[in-house]
Amino acid sequence: MKLADVARVRLAHLPTPLEFLPRLSDYLGGPRIWVKRDDQTGLALGGNKARKLEFLVAEALAQGCDTLVTTGGPQSNHARQTAAAAAKLGLHCELVLPRVVPWSTPEYEQSGNVLLDRLLGAGLEFPTAEEFSPQSIDKVLTGLTAQGRKPYFIPVGGSTPLGALGYVLAVGELLGQAQDLQIPIHTIVVPTGSAGTHAGILAGLIEAEHPAHLQGFAVSATAREKEALVATLAQQALELLEYTGPAVGPRVHVDDRFVGPGYGLPTDAMIEAVKLVARLEGLLLDPVYTGKAMAGLIDLARQGKFAPTDHVIFWHTGGTPGLFAYQQIF
Ligand SMILES: *Cc1c(COP(=O)(O)O)cnc(C)c1O
Repeated sequence: MKLADVARVRLAHLPTPLEFLPRLSDYLGGPRIWVKRDDQTGLALGGNKARKLEFLVAEALAQGCDTLVTTGGPQSNHARQTAAAAAKLGLHCELVLPRVVPWSTPEYEQSGNVLLDRLLGAGLEFPTAEEFSPQSIDKVLTGLTAQGRKPYFIPVGGSTPLGALGYVLAVGELLGQAQDLQIPIHTIVVPTGSAGTHAGILAGLIEAEHPAHLQGFAVSATAREKEALVATLAQQALELLEYTGPAVGPRVHVDDRFVGPGYGLPTDAMIEAVKLVARLEGLLLDPVYTGKAMAGLIDLARQGKFAPTDHVIFWHTGGTPGLFAYQQIF
């Protein structure tokens, strides 16, 4: 199938801007760092999940579903944007958010994305990590069906081959912008979580036969697990588009040196990166994903891994509401 023929509901504000970061680039002595502003996709404060939800929600509607069900950590940005998509389309939304992050300040439990989920009218459950299993989701789905609802389940992060198509489409958008600005893209940096974003970008680059190096920074361990996820999802997304070229494996690169003690747990390098970019560029990152990926990019620049004139795209995947959940560390 051609990408243009896959059903899609418009949810995101597109195209998102591609902006140069002159002061950060100067401060590091190069490379030339650009930011792709997917923190500005709209849908209740932006983020990468809006692009995936355009395809996933289209499938839910085509199947006649009336309730979106998804899962993630308590401060899941994906859960918040799913709740917003449901509200916008008049669907119900049920969020199952296991307490997988050993962080339990009042802000973490009540502010940031949790506040927004409640405001958007989603049903919320916070099982403990021990209570939670795949069967917990089955129970919710069975319960909803028993009530006469028709639920549509979106896996964590919306990272299915269909969801990843949102980022295949996004690559076309980015390459068009880069061409207009006459920037030859050397490297693209992205956080790698449930991996649909990284996989979709990779699939998009492969389809476009663009040679940019795509560097993922893991937000939870390990690089090897993330690389396997990215390769599988990218291959499956390309299969949906009937691509028959060589395997994607050799183009998958994930670095997990900036995860720190674990998913959603702060690191000094993340705090430095978030503060630096805020103060040099007036640009807000987030503590869980983009702060750690930017820490990785800063490290590569300091190690002299780029020429000063290389053009690097930092893909800002959003998550800024999470800043309020981590008030204490800033
Ligand atoms: C979900 C998320 C990511 C990771 O994207 P995946 O497709 O899950 O790898 C990155 N940044 C933010 C802000 C997110 O919410």
